[in-house]
Amino acid sequence: MQISANQSNCPVCQNRLAFDQILHHMVCAYVGPSGDFGETDDGYVCPKCRRGIVSSDPACEIVGTSARCSACGKEMIVSPAASTMRR
Ligand SMILES: [Zn+2]
Ligand SMILES: [Zn+2]
Repeated sequence: MQISANQSNCPVCQNRLAFDQILHHMVCAYVGPSGDFGETDDGYVCPKCRRGIVSSDPACEIVGTSARCSACGKEMIVSPAASTMRR
């Protein structure tokens, strides 16, 4: 399912959505929500290759945004058209 960037409530049950950036770790090709990456003092750690990722690391790019409903567990992709990421 895909929703638009200005949508903040679950299309299924109207619960408020939690947004998450989808990150691509180019070193190991892992793609997953930023919540999968463990937080460290100076950035993140990749859940696949366990390498550290500093903020604005060129080896890690934001490829999109996902939204998840905590009430019904539905996961959605946020339409990339309106979600311009600044770094
Ligand atoms: Zn990795
Ligand atoms: Zn829901």
